[in-house]
Amino acid sequence: MNKTIIKAPCVNLEKLEELFIEMTAQNCNLRCKHCYIDFKDKKIKDFISIDVIKQALSSIHKQGLKYIHLTGAEPMLHPDFNQILRLCLKFSSVVIHTNALNINDKKARFLKKVQEEYENGNEIVFMISIDNHIEKENDELRGRGSYRKSIHAIQSLIKYDFNPILSIVNYKGLPVKDIKDNFKLMCSSFGFETSDLNFKIIPLMDKNHNGELSCDVDFQTLNIQCSKSRTLTINGVFNCPLLAADNRGKSGSDFNDFSVKSYLETPFCTQCVKHNIKLFSFDL
Ligand code: SF4
Repeated sequence: MNKTIIKAPCVNLEKLEELFIEMTAQNCNLRCKHCYIDFKDKKIKDFISIDVIKQALSSIHKQGLKYIHLTGAEPMLHPDFNQILRLCLKFSSVVIHTNALNINDKKARFLKKVQEEYENGNEIVFMISIDNHIEKENDELRGRGSYRKSIHAIQSLIKYDFNPILSIVNYKGLPVKDIKDNFKLMCSSFGFETSDLNFKIIPLMDKNHNGELSCDVDFQTLNIQCSKSRTLTINGVFNCPLLAADNRGKSGSDFNDFSVKSYLETPFCTQCVKHNIKLFSFDL
C-alpha cells in the first residue's frame, strides 16, 4: 500500500504588511452577479465588534504595518464604521474597499475632516468597485443604478481632494490596457485626471474552478495576498479575504495564536497562484 501523504504547497507569511478587517461577511447593498461571497437569504447581523479589533491591534507587531484594509461585503454598512475608521487611522493608513453607494458629497466632506484629524501622515484610500465604463453593462452585473451612484461618489471624493482607485473585475478577459484606457476616458469626462495607478484590474475568480496548481511554481517567491497579510473576522484570523468563509483558510483564533503558513488547497488558491497577484492590494 502506498503510504505517501500528499501535502498541499505552502506559503509562509514573510511579514504582516497589511491587515484586512472583514467588517461584515454578509451585509451588502448590492448583489453583484460575479461576487465571490455566497450570500444567505436572510439578513444576518454579523458586524465585527470594535473590541475584537482593539484586541487584534494590541497583539500585532505594528512595525512594518503599511495599511489596514476595511473590507466586507460592504464595510461602510457597519454601524460603528466611523469609530473603527478613527481607531485604525491611529495605527496606519486605511484602505476602504467599497461599492461607494454610501458616499455622497456630505459623507466625502466628513471623511476629509476625519483624515485631517490625524497629523501622523496616515490617510484614507478608497478602492471603489465598478466593473464597466458603460453604464448599462456595469448595471447588468452590479445592479440597476449602481453605476450612477458610484460615479457620483467618485465625483464627491475628488471634490475633497481624495484620489480614489477603481477596482475593476476583468470579467470578460479583455486586454488590461484597453480597460484602463476606457476608464481613463470616462474619468476625464467629469474632470478626474487619472494615471495607471488609479486602476486595479482584477481577474475574475471562479469559486467552482477545478484546475490544478502548476508544479513549476516557486511558491516562496509568489507575490500573493497570504505572503504579506492576514484577515481578521468575527470567526478568527484567516489567510486572506477570499478564504474568510472557508475553514481551510483559517490561520488561528486571534493574533496571539495564528499560523504563518498558508496551505494552498482551495480553487481560489489555484487561480491566485496562476495570476500571481495581490488581489486586494494596490501598488503605489
Ligand atoms: S486564495 Fe490566494 S492569497 Fe488566499 S490563501 Fe489561497 S493563495 Fe493565498
